[in-house]
Amino acid sequence: MCKNMPPLELAIQFHGHVCPGLLFGVRVAEFAQQKLGVDADNDEELLAIVENDSCAVDAIQAILGCTFGKGNLIFRDYGKQVYTIASRESGRAIRIAQIFGSMDSTESKRFRQLKSLTCLSPQEENELEELLSVLFEQIMSKPVNELFKWKEIEMPGVEKAVILPSIECQICGEGVMQSRASTTNRGLVCPTCRLEGGVNYNV
Ligand SMILES: [Zn+2]
Ligand SMILES: [Zn+2]
Repeated sequence: MCKNMPPLELAIQFHGHVCPGLLFGVRVAEFAQQKLGVDADNDEELLAIVENDSCAVDAIQAILGCTFGKGNLIFRDYGKQVYTIASRESGRAIRIAQIFGSMDSTESKRFRQLKSLTCLSPQEENELEELLSVLFEQIMSKPVNELFKWKEIEMPGVEKAVILPSIECQICGEGVMQSRASTTNRGLVCPTCRLEGGVNYNV
């Protein structure tokens, strides 16, 4: 991915489409960069704790460079539009929370309604396009203090991800990280076998 791309472009390329959620994430990411004084090509030291797994998180990943693979994206499944962005370099952290209802407008309600339909007529397709450009304007031009609240917080304590050796699952034979395996009467077993009824390649 080209780092010289504008943040919005980066996010769209990474996410695959433009949508209100992604745009909200762009606003969060840009605000965090500005508040923490980090520029786009120096994002290695950033850490993001995201409290949802919506489209917005893709903007966080693309713009701030916080990804699962690098271990600097932490997902807390709270179902909240809350983002904690921290700079390990400066030891500063900021918590950004969407103001309840700040992303709601007549247009956004209609947008979501159309999005929930499985099949759209050509007129509805057009309407959706138009709504998206209205929402684009709304979200990208809204003053930050109408979009979210934020505060500087203590640097969150986050354990470094530890990679432990893998062992062989006694049911499916696939490797599983030691700490994720459970001891059963059949020996050490992976979560797939324990929780999902196992793995079968022969169906
Ligand atoms: Zn999306
Ligand atoms: Zn298994």
